[in-house]
Amino acid sequence: MFDLAKIRDDFPILSRKVHGQPLVYFDNAATSQKPIAVINSITDYYDRYNSNVHRGVHTLSGEATDAYEGARAQIGRWFGITDPGEVILLRGATEALNLVANTIAGELKRGDVILVGETEHHANIVPWQQLESRLGVTVVPVPVDSTGMLDLKAAKTLCEKHPVAVIAIGHVSNAIGALNDVEGFIALAKENSAYSVIDGAQAAPHMLVNVKNLQADFYAVSAHKCCGPTGIGVLFGRRELLERLPPWQGGGDMIDRVSFSGTTYNELPWKFEAGTPNIADTIGFSAALRYLESIDFAAAIAHENRVHEYLIDSMLNRNTVDVLGNPERWVSVCSFNVKGSHPTDVGTLLDQLGVAVRTGHHCAMPTMEYFGLPGTVRASIAFYNSIEEVDRFLDALDRVTGMLSS
Ligand code: PLP
Repeated sequence: MFDLAKIRDDFPILSRKVHGQPLVYFDNAATSQKPIAVINSITDYYDRYNSNVHRGVHTLSGEATDAYEGARAQIGRWFGITDPGEVILLRGATEALNLVANTIAGELKRGDVILVGETEHHANIVPWQQLESRLGVTVVPVPVDSTGMLDLKAAKTLCEKHPVAVIAIGHVSNAIGALNDVEGFIALAKENSAYSVIDGAQAAPHMLVNVKNLQADFYAVSAHKCCGPTGIGVLFGRRELLERLPPWQGGGDMIDRVSFSGTTYNELPWKFEAGTPNIADTIGFSAALRYLESIDFAAAIAHENRVHEYLIDSMLNRNTVDVLGNPERWVSVCSFNVKGSHPTDVGTLLDQLGVAVRTGHHCAMPTMEYFGLPGTVRASIAFYNSIEEVDRFLDALDRVTGMLSS
């Protein structure tokens, strides 16, 4: 049984007030809140066994290494990956996508085309654009349809017309919440001998993702969207590709032997992890996944989907707002504008009533361009949100709408 009241008690921040009002936190797509188990795991590391990992001969270093590598194994298992060599620990989804673009750069040739979803977060657009002038490759957008889904048929046509070498797609779009047909895009990449790169930053918090079964070449995840700390994320990659590709950053830990007559590199996954890693937050991320396991994640997601559906139905029935998109498969997000009002004004006034939402382009300017908008207000749901909070949000929204129209 999913006990929402008990779950909410696990998140200390959810009981705070903002401007004298109980907080309604609907900015989960920007970052999720953290349960006490995650906060404690980080303090515990600093209190008891803070030390640098790998190569230490003393007890604390051994404990830190065991916890760090144990966390890697736990993170891999959650996503269906049993080979720790395929779990590269990085700063976040942004760094993961930059790593992929910069390492497969050496395999691309002038004239190659990189297909990128039109609704991508900038983290899955800009690293590819940066290759254009360097390599003579071209980034071509995979069009979005009017519902907000990426158009797989159009991508197939693009593959017939161009030498496509990479297909880079978001699993769930952060500005709309559309759950894209990633399986279809991964299959299309395979048919065309192109790399498949999936940005899973907005999917992992809302569904159990089995990266092994998906069979993408690369899959990027961000811990802070999944109840984990900021500054940590993962790149999952297929071993044979990661072995073939060169390291990205150089420094400690990623080497085997360094000499002025030639340097050799460490084995996977450390070949891609130069320098002291983010030890505390890796441990914190694994604590977050253990927490999600302990609460019955499937039941939590079923609850979240009910709350999201209620929010969407209520918003689609309001003639004072325009909701962005209407995808067939819709997750967490409700992006909207109050008719005749600027999103920043709406967000600022909602904050005065205790409701936290995000406003603006959501790092997805091409999405805004497609819909002809400067930005939207984005309410995004997590499993710890409630139907009552949606009602409080709707009341606040009605008050704000009234204030702005008077
Ligand atoms: N991709 C998507 C779809 C996102 O929503 C975000 C964060 O907002 C990112 C990538 C960047 O992730 P990170 O904060 O881990 O760098």
